[in-house]
Amino acid sequence: MELEEHYSQLLGITSPWEIYRVELKLEAQRVEIWIEYTDDEGRCPECGSACSKYDTRKERTWRHLDTMQFATYLHCEVPRVHCDKHGVKSLSVPWAGKNSRFTLLFEAFAIQVLKAARSVEEARKLLRLNWHQVDAIKARAVERGLARRQETNIDYLGIDEKQFRSGHDYVSNLYDLTGGRVLDVIEGRTENACKRLIEQALTPEQKRQVTAVALDMWQAYANAVSETLPQADIVHDRFHISQHLNDAVDSVRRAENKALGKLGDNRLKGSRYYWLTNEENLDKERAEQFAMLKKSDLKVARAWAIKEMFRDFWDYRYAGWAERHFGRWYAWAIRSRLEPIKKKARMIKSHLPNILTYFKHRISNAVAEGLNSKIQTIKANARGYRSFEGFRNSILFYCGGLDMAP
Ligand SMILES: [Zn+2]
Repeated sequence: MELEEHYSQLLGITSPWEIYRVELKLEAQRVEIWIEYTDDEGRCPECGSACSKYDTRKERTWRHLDTMQFATYLHCEVPRVHCDKHGVKSLSVPWAGKNSRFTLLFEAFAIQVLKAARSVEEARKLLRLNWHQVDAIKARAVERGLARRQETNIDYLGIDEKQFRSGHDYVSNLYDLTGGRVLDVIEGRTENACKRLIEQALTPEQKRQVTAVALDMWQAYANAVSETLPQADIVHDRFHISQHLNDAVDSVRRAENKALGKLGDNRLKGSRYYWLTNEENLDKERAEQFAMLKKSDLKVARAWAIKEMFRDFWDYRYAGWAERHFGRWYAWAIRSRLEPIKKKARMIKSHLPNILTYFKHRISNAVAEGLNSKIQTIKANARGYRSFEGFRNSILFYCGGLDMAP
């Protein structure tokens, strides 16, 4: 009985559960362990009251942590009890959660491996699990984590969109900017989707506590925030605004490069990177090349200078000063005769009140951008999520800051 005792201690199996057989299958590299329930009574899994044994179900199997390199499985014919209140119910087993095909220790270990591995594929191979099993473990972990989440005050939220699958499907993410975590994810980027996202992630009390929300200049989100969090300021995200100006510079460059090319002038060929990166990032040789370009009378040089001037906007201490700076900048941008720049300038101007709120709260989705690159890795890792649920579970698993241990 030595092996049985050894495994009883290892698994923490105590009376009335008893290990009665252990088989080492050397060929198959497996350890099989059989457990039985030795009492005539048991506790109802719903209410905990003592009930008499009714019958036993057919044998179930759970994967446990490997013993050395041997895959280890538990088997048990779990009895059912008859409760006066709840009818006939299977006993809960102490080594596994409800409906799980893995023991608690295995799930705890699998969660650690999934979090530490470079990719899901790597973790999956180490754990010798299939994709379906990995998804099920993640889904249960996230469910536990969400159920355990404490209702804390969240001052600053961020909302942004993320492409899901190839095509034109989007999801919306809700971030706790201070806590650096994803609160929840929802399908779509409409006003309604965003409202549901806020409603499902926050309690009424938490909603009242929100001070400000960082988001792109996307009307659907702004509407949803005004409606669900009327007291919160909207802060249009500075990185999205920079992105808009970069896009404008790039379309000026593309058009000009094409026009110059027709005249046999290739000065702008391969210059895209120069105009879009921060000048500080260029090495010496490139910096010299770029110095020539930006001093030229090219349209893209003018567009670039306008974009650069806008960067100073964020450095002001007070909204009033930033607003005056914006006035000067806008006057220049609108006289620039560069349509893409003028278009973005008008866009920024129409959102200015909710951009100047930056100087009160100084929040941006930069935290979210960090999480976003993590989400990007999740996407790349999981060879395309077929279901939104699987995608949401993975984001919350890796970025939700959840306590998921079984
Ligand atoms: Zn009961």
